[in-house]
Amino acid sequence: MGEPRFIADAMLGDLARWLRMLGYDTIYAGNREDWWVLRQLDKEPDRILLTKDRGLCRRARRRGRRCIFIDGSSVEEYLLEVARGTGIRLGIDPDRSRCPACNGELARMYKPDIKGLVPQRVYEAYDEFWRCIRCGKVYWRGSHWRGIEETLIRVRSRLEEEG
Ligand SMILES: [Zn+2]
Repeated sequence: MGEPRFIADAMLGDLARWLRMLGYDTIYAGNREDWWVLRQLDKEPDRILLTKDRGLCRRARRRGRRCIFIDGSSVEEYLLEVARGTGIRLGIDPDRSRCPACNGELARMYKPDIKGLVPQRVYEAYDEFWRCIRCGKVYWRGSHWRGIEETLIRVRSRLEEEG
């Protein structure tokens, strides 16, 4: 079985970005209507719908699609709910990550090739860079990286406590 793929509804933009960073192909529905989301699930029936809308969740399930109703109020709780339902990995390997902005795949870059694409101080401070093959955005393990890791550690320990 392949990796789970997701579609996240309008209220779950943060969750979509996190799932992409974790390496999962995730469509973000943004402000599109429910019918668009349901049609997308018809086209790609393996995608799991993540939504805070009980009605939409019910409609998807009636059509035989998988839905995880997201009840929490923070990214930490969202991730916990998705992990309970799917067993996703809760660690980031940037070589597997997708672009949080557009869901494109990332490619590891040869440092000299990104010169001029990032601020000089960033170029000097870091050695590893990844670039989205779709939108061209460049990523590195910047100052917010520690916060990301800490959030994932908290989610993992809560999951372990549940056994
Ligand atoms: Zn991108």
